[in-house]
Amino acid sequence: MSLSEIQQRVTLAARKAGRADESIHLIAVSKEQPESRVLPVLEAGHRLFGENRVQEAAGKWPDWRGRFGEVDLHLLGPLQTNKARQAMGLFQAIHSLDRPKLARTLARLAQEMGSCPQLFVQVNTGVEPQKAGILPAEADAFIAEARGMDLPVTGLMCLPPVDEDPAAHFALLAQIAARNGLSDLSMGMSDDFETAIARGATHLRVGSAIFGARR
Ligand SMILES: *Cc1c(COP(=O)(O)O)cnc(C)c1O
Repeated sequence: MSLSEIQQRVTLAARKAGRADESIHLIAVSKEQPESRVLPVLEAGHRLFGENRVQEAAGKWPDWRGRFGEVDLHLLGPLQTNKARQAMGLFQAIHSLDRPKLARTLARLAQEMGSCPQLFVQVNTGVEPQKAGILPAEADAFIAEARGMDLPVTGLMCLPPVDEDPAAHFALLAQIAARNGLSDLSMGMSDDFETAIARGATHLRVGSAIFGARR
C-alpha cells in the first residue's frame, strides 16, 4: 500500500506549485481492486474513493461503509440514465455529467429526492470521437444549461488522450472552468497527477499508483 507515498508526492507537488495542501483532494480509485488491497487504505483512515461503475460500487460499498463508517464516494465513469437514481443514492459526487439527457434526468430526480450529488461536467478536451464528454466549444453553453436546471455543477473533469502531453489538456480545462466561474478541476491520474497539480487540479483520481495494477 503506497497511499502515504502518494500523499507525500501530492504535498510536495502542491508546495512546488505554491498551493495549499487542503485545496487538493486525493480520490483513491478502487475500481476492480480486490478487498485485500482496499481495506488497508480504509484502515489507514482514507475516506475518499472513486468508482467507475454504479453496479460494481453498489456491490462493495454498503458493506465497507457498514464497517468503516462514512466514506465519500465519487462516480468517475459514464452514467446511464436508468442507473441515475441508484447513483444518486450511492455517490457524493458524479464526475461524468456529459450530455443534456443525463442533466435533465438528474435535475428531475434531484427535485424528487430533495438532494443531488456534487457534479462535474466531463469535457472531451482532445475531441476524441470514441470518448465521452462535452466538446470544448460547447462547454460554456452546456454548463449554462445545467445551471439553468439548478444542478449543483461545481467543476469540470477531463481524461486527456493517452498519447498526448496531458499538460495542454489540463490547461484547457482550467481555462474553461475559470471563464465559467467553476472552482473544481477533476484531473490527473497515476501517471500525471503532479502535472495536474501544477495546472490547478483540485480532485486527483489515482488508482493503480495507490493499489497496484488492476487485474
Ligand atoms: C480508472 C480511472 C482512473 C484511475 O486510473 P489510474 O491510472 O489507475 O490512476 C481515473 N479516472 C478515471 C475516469 C478512471 O476510469
